[in-house]
Amino acid sequence: MRLGVLGWPVAHSRSPAMHNAALAAVGLGDWRYQHLPVAPELFAETVRALGAAGFAGANVTIPHKEAALALATDATAAARTIGAANTLTFGPAGAVAADNTDAPAILAALGDEHPRSALVLGAGGSARAAVHALREAGADVAVWNRTAARAQALAAELGARAVTVAAPADVLVNCTSVGLQPGSLPFKELPVDADALGEYPCVIDLVYRSPATDLLQEAARRGARTIDGLEILVRQGALSFERWTGRPAPLDVMRAAARDEL
Ligand code: NAP
Repeated sequence: MRLGVLGWPVAHSRSPAMHNAALAAVGLGDWRYQHLPVAPELFAETVRALGAAGFAGANVTIPHKEAALALATDATAAARTIGAANTLTFGPAGAVAADNTDAPAILAALGDEHPRSALVLGAGGSARAAVHALREAGADVAVWNRTAARAQALAAELGARAVTVAAPADVLVNCTSVGLQPGSLPFKELPVDADALGEYPCVIDLVYRSPATDLLQEAARRGARTIDGLEILVRQGALSFERWTGRPAPLDVMRAAARDEL
């Protein structure tokens, strides 16, 4: 059986290392997970051919998540509401089932923590997944975005509140790309300064790099529980793995492989 991650570019993805380690750990040594670099203009025809080529499923990353949902023959309600799919499962006769495991990954990473309130920064694809997940979990969700109109549109669609200034909340989730570059100054571009981070008992940064982003370093310094983007990547991968293989995902193995690559 074959699995893979569709993206453009995708060579940087840690998913193959993470999934191949997991497949070996659960005894599926004859399964292989690979990079699938596919340009946007070839995406639909490539995906439609994967099932017949022996693929059980594929993850989908930038820039294909919306296209993946659009070409699916079936999709979960969550993927439809979020408007994007990161997990495809191939069935007989060209069937392509779409799901979004980015959203439940955030809740899985939170574990027993059930936030009553959340502040989500950003209004792109990952912010949509975060808002959907936190609303489903019953939280009151505020959304801030650099381009305020996008926050307003997202909030109206997904049952959140658009805000122009940050207010304290049980959890802060950074879904902007700010912080990706080492040495970038997140507190100039985001509405929360370092001292205000003390007002968020839990801080999640979807951006991942080593060392941790300044946002997470400052939050940890102020006593917050911090969850980095690599943990979210591991959690979404684990949920995809379980859909494809029907086996419990070996989280520790996946985590170690993903961090090793970093
Ligand atoms: P996206 O759809 O392109 O959205 C980018 C967001 O970042 C937008 O809200 C944009 O605001 C904001 N932004 C960009 N530059 C900014 C700046 N200088 N100041 C303030 N805001 C800025 O991206 P995405 O897919 O949601 O991904 C966002 C980040 O999460 C990326 O770094 C991505 O790598 C990461 N991510 C991680 C995982 C994981 O598994 N860990 C999964 C998905 C994404 P405007 O609307 O104003 O442009």
